[in-house]
Amino acid sequence: MNVTPNATNAISPTDRPDPVIIAGAGPSGGVLALSLVRNGIPVVLLEKCESLPIDLRASTFHPPSLEMIADLDAGVIEKMLNKGLKADRYQYRDRATGEVATFEMDMIADETRFPFRLQLEQYELTHFLVEALQGEPLAQVLFSHELVSFEQTADGVVAVVDTPEGRREIAGSYLVGAEGARSVVRKRSEIGFSGFTYNEKFLVVSTEFPFETVFEDFSYVNYVSDPQEWCVILRTDKLWRVLVPVFPESEQDEATYLTDEFIQQRLKRLHDKGSDYNVHHRSLYAVNQRVASTYYDRRAVLVGDACHINNPLGGMGMNGGLHDAFNLAEKFQQIFAGTQSAEQALAQYDRQRRELAVRFVQEHTIQNKKLMEATDPDIQRKRQKMLMDTAACPEKARAFLLERSMINCLRESLQVA
Ligand SMILES: Cc1cc2nc3c(=O)[nH]c(=O)nc-3n(C[C@H](O)[C@H](O)[C@H](O)COP(=O)(O)OP(=O)(O)OC[C@H]3O[C@@H](n4cnc5c(N)ncnc54)[C@H](O)[C@@H]3O)c2cc1C
Repeated sequence: MNVTPNATNAISPTDRPDPVIIAGAGPSGGVLALSLVRNGIPVVLLEKCESLPIDLRASTFHPPSLEMIADLDAGVIEKMLNKGLKADRYQYRDRATGEVATFEMDMIADETRFPFRLQLEQYELTHFLVEALQGEPLAQVLFSHELVSFEQTADGVVAVVDTPEGRREIAGSYLVGAEGARSVVRKRSEIGFSGFTYNEKFLVVSTEFPFETVFEDFSYVNYVSDPQEWCVILRTDKLWRVLVPVFPESEQDEATYLTDEFIQQRLKRLHDKGSDYNVHHRSLYAVNQRVASTYYDRRAVLVGDACHINNPLGGMGMNGGLHDAFNLAEKFQQIFAGTQSAEQALAQYDRQRRELAVRFVQEHTIQNKKLMEATDPDIQRKRQKMLMDTAACPEKARAFLLERSMINCLRESLQVA
């Protein structure tokens, strides 16, 4: 499968534009920066933290994302593959009945070079990207540089940035907001971000306890449904991670959910191993489904969580951001090579990525959550049966995998004129 957009010619040094300023060195910003410099477009990558954040967030890379990264940089993909775990199947489990629907990724081996989900912490990717950028003469990576505002001029942008030495202005050709859900670029451009926030929050804890030794035939990615307490149990390169929904009504409740007592009790309900779990990490976060009303305003453009956020079930948030970044890199190449006007290219970016994000990612992630959380045992049984029937039928399983691996939606997006 080729999901990488057709590359236009790299920009020649004599036509080199002012840098594209990218705010945020997360997965979206890092991939965009490396894609641009590899095509002769200078970038300034601003990161507000003094070093790359190391926190437990997304951990699943779908096949198309791996293909795009492989085409971008052989060294980065090699490091990812060496470090990550290849999940060649994943499961939907019914906790009450013990029934399991197993989806084998090799059913789509003829469609992709990477017929697996790579389980790897997203911060590993951002570190590999910044290492690669540091060897690039066209890239400036500036840590402790926080975008606070910006102005658009007739032919460029001026970013206002807080640094340890004080406030400074940086001029560029375009400004990309890759600074996550609280994007300054989006807010300053007064771009709407409508959608909703779920009542529950997600509690995520990690442990090295080997769940694969106590649950039969356990895969690296498991969606476990239960009328009372659904959960996701997945393995990353280092640890097992358990995600459960909780319903805090106050700050006091939130504090309670993060206590050892609550976490141990919750893990022991999954499997009572007779002693306490060694818990490495715990976090509680709000879950939203929101999409920006446009992905650009003249020379200010959005990628990743800055323009769409969704629940993590199915691992589509970070992957969607990576797909935005690759798509946008292609549009910048066209703009600077003069093969498309900026207005045409960015409007196409908006159509290909925003309309798709609304329809595909929002729809699938909302549906994924509904699949897990039904409290009516009858509905739960029917859903599990549907998943097991799908997994057992090669044709249906293949269609399911092409959809959930985001292969179909990317192919569809490239057809959008
Ligand atoms: C707590 C949490 C847990 C998550 N868990 C999962 C999960 O389990 N599975 C899943 O699929 N997805 C998960 N996600 C979503 C996933 O992490 C995101 O979709 C992904 O990180 C988006 O990448 P991004 O590059 O667009 O933005 P981010 O990763 O948010 O990166 C933004 C970067 O910009 C920097 N920054 C912010 N403001 C500024 C500024 N003003 N100037 C300069 N730099 C700035 C930040 O420090 C950060 O480095 C989680 C998200 C959160 C918040």
